[in-house]
Amino acid sequence: MDTQNRKIESFFSSREAAEGTLDISKEDIKDAFLKKLFYGLGRIPAVATKNDLYTALALTIRDKVFGRYVRSLEQFAEKDARAIGYLSAEYLPGPHLGNNLLNLEIMDETREALAELDLDLKELLEQEVEPGLGNGGLGRLASCYLDSMATLGVPSIGYGIRYEFGIFNQSIKDGWQAEATDKWLHFGNPWEVVRPEIAFEVKFGGHTEHSYENDKLHVKWIPNTEVKGVAYDTAILGYQSNAIIMRLWSAEAVESFDFSVYNVGDYYKAVEKKMRSENLTKVLYPNDENLSGKELRLKQQYFFVSCSLQDIIRLHLLQGRKLEDLHEKFTLQLNDTHPSIAVPELMRLLVDEHAMEWDEAWEKTRNTFAYTNHTLLPEALEKWSVSLLGKILPRHLEIIYEINRRFLDDLRNLKYNGEQIARMSLIEDWGEPAIRMAHLATVGSYKVNGVSELHSRLLQKQVLHDFAQLWPEKFTNVTNGVSYRRFLAVSNPALADLITKKIGNQWLQNLNGIKELENLALDPDFQKEWIAVKLQNKKHLANHIKERTGIEIEPSMLFDIHVKRIHEYKRQHLKVLHILSLYLRIQAGKGDGISPTAFIFGGKAAPGYFMAKRIIKLITSVGDLVNNDPQVNGKLKVAFLPNFSVKQAQKVYPAADLSEQISMAGKEASGTGNMKFALNGALTVGTLDGANVEIREEVGEENFFLFGLTTDGVQEAKKQGYRPYNYYEENDHLKEILDFLVSGKLAKGDKELFRPIYDNLIHQDPYLVLKDFQSYIDCQNKIHTAWRDPERWVKMSILNVAHIGKFSSDRSIKDYSDNIWELEVMKV
Ligand SMILES: *Cc1c(COP(=O)(O)O)cnc(C)c1O
Repeated sequence: MDTQNRKIESFFSSREAAEGTLDISKEDIKDAFLKKLFYGLGRIPAVATKNDLYTALALTIRDKVFGRYVRSLEQFAEKDARAIGYLSAEYLPGPHLGNNLLNLEIMDETREALAELDLDLKELLEQEVEPGLGNGGLGRLASCYLDSMATLGVPSIGYGIRYEFGIFNQSIKDGWQAEATDKWLHFGNPWEVVRPEIAFEVKFGGHTEHSYENDKLHVKWIPNTEVKGVAYDTAILGYQSNAIIMRLWSAEAVESFDFSVYNVGDYYKAVEKKMRSENLTKVLYPNDENLSGKELRLKQQYFFVSCSLQDIIRLHLLQGRKLEDLHEKFTLQLNDTHPSIAVPELMRLLVDEHAMEWDEAWEKTRNTFAYTNHTLLPEALEKWSVSLLGKILPRHLEIIYEINRRFLDDLRNLKYNGEQIARMSLIEDWGEPAIRMAHLATVGSYKVNGVSELHSRLLQKQVLHDFAQLWPEKFTNVTNGVSYRRFLAVSNPALADLITKKIGNQWLQNLNGIKELENLALDPDFQKEWIAVKLQNKKHLANHIKERTGIEIEPSMLFDIHVKRIHEYKRQHLKVLHILSLYLRIQAGKGDGISPTAFIFGGKAAPGYFMAKRIIKLITSVGDLVNNDPQVNGKLKVAFLPNFSVKQAQKVYPAADLSEQISMAGKEASGTGNMKFALNGALTVGTLDGANVEIREEVGEENFFLFGLTTDGVQEAKKQGYRPYNYYEENDHLKEILDFLVSGKLAKGDKELFRPIYDNLIHQDPYLVLKDFQSYIDCQNKIHTAWRDPERWVKMSILNVAHIGKFSSDRSIKDYSDNIWELEVMKV
């Protein structure tokens, strides 16, 4: 062994000694922190800003996390298991610092180390700006899954896009949503490491040239632009265990400048070209209705997919493996159809760039991908027009046509009729021809899963019915889960401590262990402590809301919370009708039986979504009315907490008494907010939709407030020609409420402001708000009765938490590993 290697060896073994013991002392942390502050940032405590201090701490912790990552690499290499490339256009990691401290088990040591320096850990945690690289549930799910893959020791890389501007920041101006760009990188990002040498070129546009050599077709793609994707790595640490990498691609110009040009005009052209290239990963698109025309969005998708596939092939070949074995060593999980252009891209790489025969390449491709569907909403099923796709990716369009030609030939051989074939084709032919990305992903994958039992069933019955009949064994379910370490242990430390005090801390390794709380549900002392913790959390949230909105909420009120993206199918307007019902009842002197309640909303509306933005204005207007009316004051409060994000979510879920999960049945694929609420002891009021069904099964129907139509009921109502106007006419109280919307009383005399909502509800009501209204009101009356019996309520709350084990994302990842990826997790 040469000296160089010996040095490395000895470094590694001493590092093992330092990191491998899992014992990081208060003194270590203090020492490392001060070193980062002095030598890493050139600051002394006296002049350091809060951001300097936060950054120094983040860098200190990042070192520990990377230490774990290096060790994980060694373990993964030894095990030689199949690896997962998780392809997701969105991630919503939330703040890293607190989660890493928990997973390293040094939260207390760090707090104490900082206290000795007269610093407050809490303040530094608040300083972190979270990467808002996703819209909502889908991005958060991807981040929960990375957390669990790390925890369970699944060799994996999470691939995505490093948007320079994430999801917009929401503020409320005059009651309306206002959007501002999200400058999450403004203060730097201490968690990431740029890897300039891990970079790939990605081509766009141009045309293809076909030629034959020995009867074999050769296709050459002559693009007209190229962009370089550079890797930015963030280590994602699991609990007490491994770390994996989230690798996000950032776009750069291929050659920063062509210095050889001597013509001034050319120089400026080169500058413009550079800027155009870098635009590619500038901004995350909010999930608006009409993304399908957005050329830049398609380019983003292809850009990150192409970089990721090139990276995976590089890693595969680096290990001395043959390309033919790719599918044995990698599974690429498609998080929705956003990365589904990966199917023709892998075909292109294999056939055009690595000279593999089509049949063999298709066999490998089909066995490499697995696809997760996330929606049944027809308007959310991704389609790209043939003309746009052909313009940006001419070679991919040819490949998609060829995949489709062969697929439809197979169907003809199976005696499918013309109608079936048209339904299943990858290309929609009526109107403007378009590629159906869900069909492409389904045909190109070896497994397709929905995200809750109900959703997977509906997926096979409706959206992908023909495919499920053709390939029943391809379809499966993986019910979503959440990282309970982040959403309970980190964000609700008081409850976590209480639980650990009573049943020990094994639940932190396996959430099923939390079932032991069952035995304490009737223990009066435990109940008292449980209530005290909840009240404390509610006080914190009330303070936060006061700071952000000026609205004062009494912590003893029932905290009835509806936070999630604003969308008609999620029915925030049904919630508003309930609030107005209470308001009008109190005004009419019929308020007995109404428990004092704080209604708390949060969530962003897509900037181009007219109805959703008006619903926000409606909520804030109802708030203005209710919060300032002396007659109802003390009984009802309404607050809209702006800029719902993971950071906000971590304050909101722990403080909830009641979780609103009231989507129209059949529309919410799973939901994960529902899980996070129940995990924190909130009771759910909900429809039989998405994972609500399974939550109710787990926690028991007596501990869940159910209302509304089932999916069958919804279908039946629609089939029979639903007429919302009849409900308006026949239900006097409902009529009174709806008329109130256009009475001007909510809008300083303006009767038109909420007419679009009123008109939509009484004439169309696509999400059956009016049909479910009475059932919802009746259910809420029961809830208010239950709330007045604190012993009953707290028992139900404890039982919800005790039975939440199934909804850990560790369980979801175990399901993926067992049923789709066919690999054994290292840790259960
Ligand atoms: C969990 C979560 C969501 C998803 O909430 P749903 O209620 O399932 O729609 C959205 N945004 C954030 C920030 C979350 O943490």
